[in-house]
Amino acid sequence: MKRITIAIALLLFMLPFSYALPPADTTRPPIVILSFDDAEISHYTVVAPMLKKYHCNATFFVCDFPRKTPADSVEFMNWQQIQRLHQMGFEIGNHTGHHKNVTKLTRGQLQQEIQYVDDKCSS
Ligand SMILES: [Zn+2]
Repeated sequence: MKRITIAIALLLFMLPFSYALPPADTTRPPIVILSFDDAEISHYTVVAPMLKKYHCNATFFVCDFPRKTPADSVEFMNWQQIQRLHQMGFEIGNHTGHHKNVTKLTRGQLQQEIQYVDDKCSS
């Protein structure tokens, strides 16, 4: 969580400086795209509230890590928390169902991994 908090704090610190640089197109403000992956719980508890506070949007690429220990349940978001991010206005991206190495999957396995997140988001 410290790593994410530091990254966000650094980003918010740097944002005013990016406006000081001459943009290529002076008729439009600079664009910053934020994305976060792996559905870490700190995205829900720290990142999302901070982004809302500063009126920033982001995409959260989510997956469903197998929960092998009780600690895993508090380390990653559940699907209700992911739904809440969506309700808060954030975009939810598909990071495959179980964070697999997609270069090692067959076409059918890849389709299953993608469908898994689509089904979870639909339900
Ligand atoms: Zn990842």
